[in-house]
Amino acid sequence: MENFDIIVIGGGSAGSAVAGRLSADQRRRVCLIEAGGHNDVMAVKTPGLLPFIPASSKYDFDTVPQPGLKGRVGYQPRGRGLGGSSAINAMLYIRGNGWDYDQWEQLGADGWSFADCLPYFKRAEGNERGADALHGADGPLHVMDQHWPNGASRAFVEAAAALQLPRNADFNGPSQDGFGLYQVTQKGGERWSAARAYVEPARQRPNLAVKTGAVVERIIVEGGRATGVEISQGGQRLRVQAAGGVVLSAGAFNSPQILMLSGIGPSEHLADKGIATVHNLPAVGADLQDHIDYVVSYRTRSNIPFGTSLGGSWRMARAFIQHRWNRTGMLTTPFAEAGGFWRTRPDLPAPDVQYHFIPAMLEDHGRSQVKGHGYSSHVCVLRPESRGSVQLNDANPLSPPRIDPGFLSDRRDVDVLMAGARMMQRICTAPPLSDLGGEPLRCVDLADDAALEAEIRNRADTVYHPVGTCRMGGDADAVVNPQLALNGVAGLWVADASIMPRLVSGNTNAPSIMIGERAADFVAAALK
Ligand SMILES: Cc1cc2nc3c(=O)[nH]c(=O)nc-3n(C[C@H](O)[C@H](O)[C@H](O)COP(=O)(O)OP(=O)(O)OC[C@H]3O[C@@H](n4cnc5c(N)ncnc54)[C@H](O)[C@@H]3O)c2cc1C
Repeated sequence: MENFDIIVIGGGSAGSAVAGRLSADQRRRVCLIEAGGHNDVMAVKTPGLLPFIPASSKYDFDTVPQPGLKGRVGYQPRGRGLGGSSAINAMLYIRGNGWDYDQWEQLGADGWSFADCLPYFKRAEGNERGADALHGADGPLHVMDQHWPNGASRAFVEAAAALQLPRNADFNGPSQDGFGLYQVTQKGGERWSAARAYVEPARQRPNLAVKTGAVVERIIVEGGRATGVEISQGGQRLRVQAAGGVVLSAGAFNSPQILMLSGIGPSEHLADKGIATVHNLPAVGADLQDHIDYVVSYRTRSNIPFGTSLGGSWRMARAFIQHRWNRTGMLTTPFAEAGGFWRTRPDLPAPDVQYHFIPAMLEDHGRSQVKGHGYSSHVCVLRPESRGSVQLNDANPLSPPRIDPGFLSDRRDVDVLMAGARMMQRICTAPPLSDLGGEPLRCVDLADDAALEAEIRNRADTVYHPVGTCRMGGDADAVVNPQLALNGVAGLWVADASIMPRLVSGNTNAPSIMIGERAADFVAAALK
């Protein structure tokens, strides 16, 4: 048995920030427990080697069959190992829309308006463009422009401009609307995961213990208070104790799973799985929200986009050597190089669809190879109405959770996706992008509502932003209160994407890190 002041479960985007910030006070003994490894490998560090990230750095979860997707099973990858999903993500630096956070506050998350969250975004951010009213330059999370974008990505932005859509050089600036190149969480041409930002610089601290390859099986609750965790590591089952409590940062799928394995969750479901209820909390695992996404690929005559050909392979080989040599060039690509935010109706308070443009053909999450050169564009619904859940398959901590995103179960999401897809087709076939000679891999008559809906239901899936399964709120039914403390169990906080009461209008890494930054302050205040 080991003793600490605080245990952080999960070294992902939020957990890295929590552990890094809390261990800055040398008087506090912090233990970070991570199921995966160090992720200190070339494929994780090199942005353009994203398709080659080893299986050991990932959870390859599946959803249950989705009626809204014609019964298909969705794919849900998550990061495993230090950095969590920030070690396998596309590195896009996006905060969402300020309006999202104001909504959170209106829903009962007191102190989470955009004005309240902005100082934490800035505290985290180390933007190479420098500091201003909306940006930080000195934070540990390095953010930079793309210096070697593909010509097709620039053509996508120009094609949007040719349709009179606004340009946007900073999606985290005063306005989110418009099209441009994304900023990325990289430094010196390498991926800058949350672990590189917060955990690596803290590794020498004598008061921080980092346990990798250690799976938390349950949180120990004694007398209504979280006092430690039970872990399995190297074939052994061990207990780790913490006088100040436990911060749960295992992500939107594993955080509710760990709570339920610990007897905290909907009591009927727990009984069904043979788990004794410690605290009945029906909202655990409810309210799953995710960005449903539809991708269209075009094969080009031009070999400017990435692809498989003799010339393409030669360019890739040179790019590999260049990146090994000085960390520059094509292998700094985040793949989703360009994109934009657009309102499908002008009366909306904020953009409701986001585009991710990739200068390569993408099929089935990149799991199937398409021959030739080409590009693809994603469109996703930013504020879906559909809701799902995370439950237990069984009481085994090593079993995957039962994930049901309820994709397209609400008709309104289909309508938004259809409007977004129609605009996407206009951009993808406008000059100068059309000068690359792109032909869609599948021919669908987008003017035909029924055909487009069928195509979307046949092919849409996640763009990897699950949230909401440990909802924060001011009501007693919420899983955590606005200080991220669990309702009904003392000394237990949840800090990761799962606490978002509503999915933000954008990618979720920077918001998860912001949540980790805030959690560190809440926990530090409670430990005083
Ligand atoms: C393929 C992909 C691409 C993405 N692209 C982008 C992007 O470009 N930009 C962006 O902003 N967002 C992106 N995202 C989303 C973003 O990365 C996530 O929303 C964010 O990282 C979530 O952070 P988190 O702290 O909630 O969880 P995670 O970062 O997933 O961390 C959870 C951690 O907990 C650990 N853990 C789980 N169970 C246990 C256990 N039982 N015991 C111990 N440890 C455990 C996991 O191993 C993991 O390290 C992407 C995600 C994916 C999967």
